[in-house]
Amino acid sequence: MGDEDIPICEFQLPEDESPAPEGTIMKMALERDYRWPHGSVLRIRFLNGTSDLHERVKKHAAEWLKYAWVFFHYVSEGDADIRIWFGGKGWSSKLGNTSRGPQNTPSMKLAMTSKTIDTEGRHILHEFGHALGCIHEHLRPDTGIIWNKPKVLAHYMNPPNNWPKEKVEHNLFQPYERSELISSKMDKKSIMIYAVRADFTKNGWSCGWNKTLSDTDKEFIGKMYPRPAAGWRESGRLETKDEPIRLKLTLTKTPDVVVGIRGIDAYSLSTQNSLNIAFSTSRSGGHTFLDMKPGTDTVLANGTASWVDLVNDKDFHHGEVKFAGKPAKGTKHTRKVTFPTAYRRTPQVMAFPTAVGMENEWRFNVYAADITSEGFTLVSEWWPSLLNITCTWISLPSNGLNYIDPFIASGQAMWGQIDFSQRNLKGVPGVFMAISQLHADASKGLRVRLRPHDVNTSSMWWFVDTWYGSDIKEVGGVIWARRF
Ligand SMILES: [Zn+2]
Repeated sequence: MGDEDIPICEFQLPEDESPAPEGTIMKMALERDYRWPHGSVLRIRFLNGTSDLHERVKKHAAEWLKYAWVFFHYVSEGDADIRIWFGGKGWSSKLGNTSRGPQNTPSMKLAMTSKTIDTEGRHILHEFGHALGCIHEHLRPDTGIIWNKPKVLAHYMNPPNNWPKEKVEHNLFQPYERSELISSKMDKKSIMIYAVRADFTKNGWSCGWNKTLSDTDKEFIGKMYPRPAAGWRESGRLETKDEPIRLKLTLTKTPDVVVGIRGIDAYSLSTQNSLNIAFSTSRSGGHTFLDMKPGTDTVLANGTASWVDLVNDKDFHHGEVKFAGKPAKGTKHTRKVTFPTAYRRTPQVMAFPTAVGMENEWRFNVYAADITSEGFTLVSEWWPSLLNITCTWISLPSNGLNYIDPFIASGQAMWGQIDFSQRNLKGVPGVFMAISQLHADASKGLRVRLRPHDVNTSSMWWFVDTWYGSDIKEVGGVIWARRF
């Protein structure tokens, strides 16, 4: 049996009435609306088949995971996002998140047998491409193919495909509107293309069966499911007043970068011991910059910031709330925050200040309370010395990929160990740390820094450093460990 006689994928674009997003030019072609949430752990269940078949699927499917920031979690029971059935002669998959659906019906059909071992790799890759949201490359509007339609119809309407005429037309001749696609130049090497025999076209256009992911497949899926980045930057000893310390951040892909204050070395020039500091990001010339700005009465000798690029992830939300003066009642500022879209389960929320103005006593405490799937209450405790505070929050799904730990330290034991061995962080995590709580003697300067130590796959240590006679009575923070 020649390669071209193997029944081909019967993928069909789902009926969907939602308006297509504006197209942008990128690699390959993918229905933007059908992407899974970024960084998803996709649950996959085999509805039948031997363990040998299962292992063969896992081996080939894993190739996508080198480039796409999603995770495959194979389960033997319970709900699954992707349900695989072996049997029949066809290869097919639902597109992206439309794979969700009735749990007793397959979302992917694989025609694997003991005789397909040598050729099945490309089919598995191709169908998992659909499952991630990729469409057929040859249905792009700009392929340049001029079909020899009678010949193509005769081929697919006969064995082994036996397709009705409408199906051949739908699967081969009806291109998508450009506005529906995120795409690049036609990629003949894409795993998402059918083989096209030269005699199927009138202009000699042809391509063979591709067996592996092309370079553009890899690049494209990496752009569709980009890996977030995180890191930290520390300034040199610059001793600045009024002017910000400006640092360029590397690895960021989007303007959606959030910073947290991880360390400050500052002192006040005023008799009221005023301390004013603001950390923020700005964008210029395609790069993201971190600005650490002291107020007129503050000298900033050194600053350390954690930053995280949220890569426009639909599952991450973040925002900013500013408070000034005395709360209307009580000793706390509070603000109800509603997420732009509700989570399926109660998410995790971090809150910390990114700008603060204080005098006489340096003290703040920021946290998230009453967290539900729809929102939370952002709380900033108030003291007369706290003049203004800008609080940043980040929410993220409660899946095993994230470990968040708030901590508080005082006295001599300004360190601790956290254990995330119960989480599946899939390797050594990156760590985002931000100070959320502080109480320091304003007459002695503020020198404090959070420091991660010995971060490994199951645990890490954290330390609070202080120096030069700074008197830190209490410090608290949030630690977010995640494989970035
Ligand atoms: Zn297909």
